[in-house]
This record gives sequence, structure tokens and C-alpha cells, in this order.
Amino acid sequence: MRYFPVFADLQNADVLVVGGGEQAAQKVRLLQKTTARISVVAADANAELRGLAAAGAIRLIVRELSGFDLEGVRLAYVATGDRERDEAVSALAWSRGIPVNVVDAPELSTFITPAIVDRDPVVVAIGTEGAAPVLARDIKSKLETLLPAKFGALAARAQGLRGLVHTKISDNGVRRRLWERLLLGPFRHAVLSGDEAKANGILASELQGVGTSARGRVALIGCGPGDPDLLTLKAVQRLQEADVLVVDRLVNPAILEYARRDAERIYVGKTPGGASTSQAQINRILVREATAGKVVARLKGGDPLIFGRAAEEMAALQAAHIEVEVVPGVTAAHACAARVQLPVTLREEVRQFSIVTGATANGEPELDWDRLAAEGSAFAIYMGVGNAPVIRGELLAAGMAAETPVVIVENGTRDDERAVATTLGELTDCVTQRGLKGPAVIFVGLDWATAGLERPLSVAVHRAQRQPAARADLDSPIGKEVWL
Ligand code: SAH
Repeated sequence: MRYFPVFADLQNADVLVVGGGEQAAQKVRLLQKTTARISVVAADANAELRGLAAAGAIRLIVRELSGFDLEGVRLAYVATGDRERDEAVSALAWSRGIPVNVVDAPELSTFITPAIVDRDPVVVAIGTEGAAPVLARDIKSKLETLLPAKFGALAARAQGLRGLVHTKISDNGVRRRLWERLLLGPFRHAVLSGDEAKANGILASELQGVGTSARGRVALIGCGPGDPDLLTLKAVQRLQEADVLVVDRLVNPAILEYARRDAERIYVGKTPGGASTSQAQINRILVREATAGKVVARLKGGDPLIFGRAAEEMAALQAAHIEVEVVPGVTAAHACAARVQLPVTLREEVRQFSIVTGATANGEPELDWDRLAAEGSAFAIYMGVGNAPVIRGELLAAGMAAETPVVIVENGTRDDERAVATTLGELTDCVTQRGLKGPAVIFVGLDWATAGLERPLSVAVHRAQRQPAARADLDSPIGKEVWL
């Protein structure tokens, strides 16, 4: 980040605009949103600026700039229309340490002006460091439609209530939760729709009831496979409400950006073979934090109810009479299938699709191999790469064809995503040769051709190049085969 965003306090400040044309007038219009005293110095001013001066909205000084004009100035905009003059004015401002922006000349400026969405006192500033102003405008127009016109009124209302709420409620957490209920709940809707009577009624009852609802709660939040764009709106809301984040190893750190910066973070990662927090410890942490009155977000990879040990956590919380909410997330199989555009059901050919685990508490997979190996079977294996040899061996032994299509997606939706198509017979070698470590989903019995689709180019193909003599020996371990 080269340009650091800050909001300059221009209350009753003196600001200077140098130049008298349209660009200068644009900056004056922008500055008029503030209560700054605006002076314009220009050898020649256009009709708009003269009109504003006549109406007393700005002070217009019709002459060349002198160093004196910069005395006591908090901020200066320069748009003289003449490069040499712009440079000279900019140099004067620099030498006095006055923040200066020369229109269309960042190299002469100490600050740049963002695109602004104005719902005063809520102001959104959008910058692209000059890289792509079109994108800033795109974001601006999206936000303009997203933020209701009365959004500023809502914030102003909160501002007016701050003192009262502060004296009435001394506990930080209780106060914040009241604000959350007010500004994200029915009070907000009443203010935004202009129903003041209703807003006041809600406010009165909220202020009466405070102090009684200090009990914490826990949200088990499905954070999806990694890409933050796959978070649900509800997940984002719950993340923002949380006082404490209890975070799994599989949760992409980028997702924590959606939580409040001051929320406490407790990492309970379970690294295979590495340092880890036991499930009992995690349960205790959740109960402890919620009992202390905190709003806890338990962040889980994918969907919390799929191989997420949510049951144990919910049981511990239920036993402690703590309110739990489950926020669904995009599970790895669905996200990975989407990444490689692999349909997991087909109208005629694939009427069932299962999600199975390739590992158990004691390591080895324990699955109904005969059922999985049945004709037309399609399934996704989670936590399976480490046990690929056993899975391959069991499925082949149960009669599944060695040519059964297999698609592996590792680190799906993340920057280091890899996808490879192979066959059951070649599963082990594909995993070892390509160094697949996971997290990965292994799809078995699904391919693009059956669906009448082309395999996406992003998916690599792993095939054995066998010597004719070795061809019959599909079960053979690596070493006998030569790989592409
Ligand atoms: N609750 C999670 C699954 C947790 S079990 C969900 O619904 O997705 C952990 C397994 O999920 C991993 O071993 C892997 O098989 C799968 N997984 C999680 N994130 C993944 C990702 N980004 N890409 C591929 N597989 C992933």
C-alpha cells in the first residue's frame, strides 16, 4: 500500500484551491461537503466560481498566487491548467509542509483524492492508487445502490445516543451488543424507513432490557474451502459480531479479515502429525468463552456439519445451556467440483453421490468398499490422499474397474489449487508422483466425457505410459511403470 487512507478534519479549516477553471471548480464542489473555509486564488475564474464568491460560499482572490496565500492553510488543491505554475505552487506547499494535491499529477502531490460515497457521517473512500479509476467508480456505484439514502441518518442517530448509552451501560461487551442489536436489527429498519415512532419504541425497550442479556453464544460458522468470496452473507455477519474467534487450521487467514480487528483469536489447529489442540480442549474453550458472556465465532473449514466434529462441540455447548447457531458453508466437494466444472450427479447416469472419509480416528479408512465399488457409484473422498494406496487397493479388490475415472482437487479455490484427472488404477502413483499432500478431495466415478463435457484445461492428466509387458499388471506398485 503506497497511499495510506486517512480522513482529514476540515472543520472550520482554511483550504486553498489554486486555479479558476472547471477542474478547480470540481474540487471546490467536493470541499463544499465540509465546513472548511474555501479560498480560491486564480488569475481568471469561471462563472461558477464567481457566482459562489458572490453568494459568499467561497473567498475568491483574482490574481497570481503569492506565498502569503498559503499561511495557515490545512490543505491545498492545485489546478491552474499550466504545468509550470502547478509545479511552482506544489513546490511552495511542499516547502511549507502543507498537504497538496495537483489535479492529474500525483508526482507533484502529497495526497490523492479517493472516490467517495457520501452518507455523512458515514463516508466511504475508495482508492486504487491511480491504477484503475474505472474500478473505483464501479465500486462506488455498487455501494451507492447498496447503502440506503438514510444510512447517514442512522449513523447520526447512533452518534446522538452515544452519551446516553455510555452512561447507562458501563460494560464494553454489553454496550457493543446493544449497538449491534440497534444498528443491525429492527431499530435500523425503522430508522431507514423513516418510522421514527417505531424506532423510539424499540430504543426504549432495548435500553430497559440491557444488562439482562449478557450471556454469550456460539456460532459454528462454515467458512468454505478457502476463497473468502464463498463465505455466506450470514457468515460475514456472524464474524463481525464475534468477540472471540476460535479458528481451525483449514480456515484461510484471508477470511479473518472479515472479523473485527479487535476480536480475540484462539487458534485450535489440528495439524496432521503436528501440534494440535484436542477436541475436549476445544469444547472447553468454547464453553469457557461463551460462559464469560462473549459472542464466540467457531470458524470451520467448509461446512461445519460435514466432517467438522460439530456434533461434539454442539453437545458440549448444549450441556452447558449455551445458545448455538450453525451457519452452513460451502463444503470442499462442492467447491472443488465447481472449480473443475465436474457435475456430481447426472440425470441418467449418476443418481447418487456420496461424501466419504478416507481416514478414521485410528488412521485407516473403514468404508463399505463393496457398495462404493458398485457399478455406477460416484463419491468424493475427504482426507484421503494419505491413504490413497489403501483406498485404491480396497476398491480394486472389491471389483471396481481400474479404469474408473478419478479427479483430485488439492487446495481447491486457493491460490495454490491443483487439479488432476487420472484413474483408480493410477491413483497411488498420481498422488506420490505429483506430491499431492492435501487438503484434497478425490472424486471417484465422475468424469466430463460421461456428462458430454470437455475436461477444463486447468485440469492436468496423469496417465501411466506402460510397457506392453507390464500392461496387465494394474496393481503393480510404482517402479514398474514409466510416467509421462
Ligand atoms: N468441514 C469441511 C471438511 C473438513 S475435513 C468441509 O465441509 O469441507 C478436511 C478435509 O476437507 C480435507 O482433508 C480435504 O479432504 C477437504 N478439504 C478442505 N478444504 C479443502 C480445499 N480447499 N480443497 C480440497 N479439499 C479440501
